[in-house]
Amino acid sequence: MRTVYVNGVFCPEDEGRISIFDRGFLFADGVYEVVSVLDGKLIDFAGHMARLARSLGELSMPAPADETALLAIHRELLARNQLAEGAVYMQVTRGVADRDFLFPPEDTPPSLVLFTQAGSLRDKPAARTGLRVVTVPDLRWARRDIKTVQLLYSSMAKTEAKRRGADDAWLVEDGRVTEGSSNNAYIVDASGRLITRPLSHAILPGITRTAVLRLAGEAGIAIEERAFTVEEALAAREAFITSASSFVLPVVEIDGQPIGDGRPGEIAGRLREIYIEEALKTAI
Ligand code: PMP
Repeated sequence: MRTVYVNGVFCPEDEGRISIFDRGFLFADGVYEVVSVLDGKLIDFAGHMARLARSLGELSMPAPADETALLAIHRELLARNQLAEGAVYMQVTRGVADRDFLFPPEDTPPSLVLFTQAGSLRDKPAARTGLRVVTVPDLRWARRDIKTVQLLYSSMAKTEAKRRGADDAWLVEDGRVTEGSSNNAYIVDASGRLITRPLSHAILPGITRTAVLRLAGEAGIAIEERAFTVEEALAAREAFITSASSFVLPVVEIDGQPIGDGRPGEIAGRLREIYIEEALKTAI
């Protein structure tokens, strides 16, 4: 059984308790981060903490603890669970208050929950076979840049993708791909140029996205940050996704049509290798 962290206490997962009046439960009034773990070390912890601070700031939510304290909790949780590979989930909500649309008083203590999830990250069958995605309308709210716990539409989209025999969904707004249900989306055009949507309120600023774009630039790959249409994606040479838990994974089919030659792309494969190498070097 896992050990989890709930509001200052490490306990067995079946003893972790949160109030029914927690605003995360009543209003999805909370944010989260997911930090991946390789060889027992945290990948890009500072990046994830910077995004957490931004999410909290955009929602005028107090921080549950400073970065040093959060790092100590992450490490303690890894040690207690002997986690070598997987992820640490950290959920922060605006805390417990009488049900009211108004934010509670600013001194309401935020709720803080962390738990681990074991799983293979380096060795993923999808890295060899590629993912099949389907497109669905992006019906999420208009502040997707904030990493809130409000994941219902992403969950619906992924479930719809599974129902249609695919692995994941790409979300589409005004004919253009915003991102994947839980990842950022990329294509590579016929000239080898990498295209991905620029940061805005429309997408989550992926921590993996930042790292992969930097590494791609350093590898001499041309990058164009702009929104691309579904038609462009269908005509692309390659497509792929990035996220903390999937790193870089190739997309080989969109809406039942093969992308390029229908096999994982060369650039996606290279970026996956470079990213993992860099992650292993810089993890803390
Ligand atoms: N977009 C969405 C909607 C996501 O849920 C995620 C995963 N958190 C990402 C992009 C990728 O972000 P990251 O690279 O930080 O995991």
